[in-house]
Amino acid sequence: MTPEHKKNVRVRFAPSPTGPLNIGGARTAFFCWLFAKQNSGAFILRIEDTDFARSSPEYEENIKEGLIWLGLEWDEFYRQSDRLELYERYLSKLIKENFAYYCFCSPEELESEEEARLSQGLSPKYGGKCRMIPINEAERRSKTERHVIRIKTPEKEASFHDAVRGKVSFDIALMGDFIIAKGAGNPLFNFSNVVDDYEMNITHVVRGEDHISNTPRQLVIQEALGFPPLEYAHLPLILGPDKKKLSKRDLAKSVIDYRNEGYLVQAILNFIALLGWHPEEDREVFSVSDMMEEFSFSRVQKSGGVFNPTKLDWLGRHYIKKLSAEKLAEHLEPFVPKAWTADKDRFLRTADAFKERLKKLSDFKTLAGFVFELGDYEPGLLAWRKSTKESAAINLEEILPIFNSMPESDFKKETIESKMMLIAKMRGNGEVLWPLRVALSGKESSPGPFELAEMLGKEETLRRISLALRILAGSVRSTSSGLASSPQT
Ligand code: GLU
Repeated sequence: MTPEHKKNVRVRFAPSPTGPLNIGGARTAFFCWLFAKQNSGAFILRIEDTDFARSSPEYEENIKEGLIWLGLEWDEFYRQSDRLELYERYLSKLIKENFAYYCFCSPEELESEEEARLSQGLSPKYGGKCRMIPINEAERRSKTERHVIRIKTPEKEASFHDAVRGKVSFDIALMGDFIIAKGAGNPLFNFSNVVDDYEMNITHVVRGEDHISNTPRQLVIQEALGFPPLEYAHLPLILGPDKKKLSKRDLAKSVIDYRNEGYLVQAILNFIALLGWHPEEDREVFSVSDMMEEFSFSRVQKSGGVFNPTKLDWLGRHYIKKLSAEKLAEHLEPFVPKAWTADKDRFLRTADAFKERLKKLSDFKTLAGFVFELGDYEPGLLAWRKSTKESAAINLEEILPIFNSMPESDFKKETIESKMMLIAKMRGNGEVLWPLRVALSGKESSPGPFELAEMLGKEETLRRISLALRILAGSVRSTSSGLASSPQT
């Protein structure tokens, strides 16, 4: 029970599996991981599931999956429910050494004691009634009576050093003798947390600011067990865009949800890096290796980090833009129907054409869907402003043979543009380009017609123009024909 304490940096991420790995947890894990790597230390994943009622294996899985996706792989893994015997041993050590005791007070008793203290203007802490029960009697009663285990809190100040906040002090006397276990096999979070930090040779505790209020309790437990003090770094709260507490919805959103929406992992890591940490110069784009070089707790702020969805989208776009067309197409594959990728070249061309417009991979399906599946549109949409359907038909008739005569290999934006502009000069830009663009997209707004024609390729371009002509002639009512099922003209 007294392992040698090593100087090597050992940091743990210690989530309770009572919810998914959200952005806040991911940030804690990322900063722990960075600090461990910067110091050639160990990054440990410890699942704190001693709150049996609220913990679930599904959340544990979600946490692991999220960490793996983020690339924050752990060097060691522990689960507290596998270690209950260890906590029990430490609990009985504390009781034997008279640092802790059994308490048999009923909730009703505690409540009326609290009321009485409050009415006398005293702090509502536990008065210590069961401290007086002789140990043998308490041991005997504990076999049959409902009880909890309380620790004796010394009447003094306690303090710890925090890498973000400096020295933090508390008057622990105000806490009174608090509960550390609900029974020998049922340690509370603060107790198992302290035991494990010691047993696992943890050197630095990195966690959210919401745990500052737990720290004085943990210091009392540490001292009673004779454990050496630890270094701390409490990370600031994450605030919503309105600078208020992050909404329940954002808190419930897991890292896996972001993955499933198609945010690139680099964008998410960059985004969470900036939640409360800021670099020396004004810069927003950080790769993991940049962070490895630049991250330090001295640049973590005390005030809340603001969760700004616009920044996330900006970063999302930034990282997608940097991908090659091939890489992007690879990333997009799981986000689109299989049929879309059947024509590899067209898929690549389209991915490349939409690259600048994607914040996340799932945007592609919405934005580029019409390239792969032409939707329904009204014949009237083909007519430019005050022009007529007849005129649209005449112009499309004109275009058809020109496209037809172009070699497939030359079916490129620039060539298409130069040919189309010749007709447009004679007949008016809108008169030619509008019906062409609508014929190719089926939409009121879309990328330009030259770009679209190149994306679709010669064959599909011809098919869509012919289809538009049939719609204008009234021989076809609907365009609802995807690529695969489309009739050829
Ligand atoms: N289990 C705690 C939580 O999920 C973290 C405790 C710690 O990091 O010390 O919030």
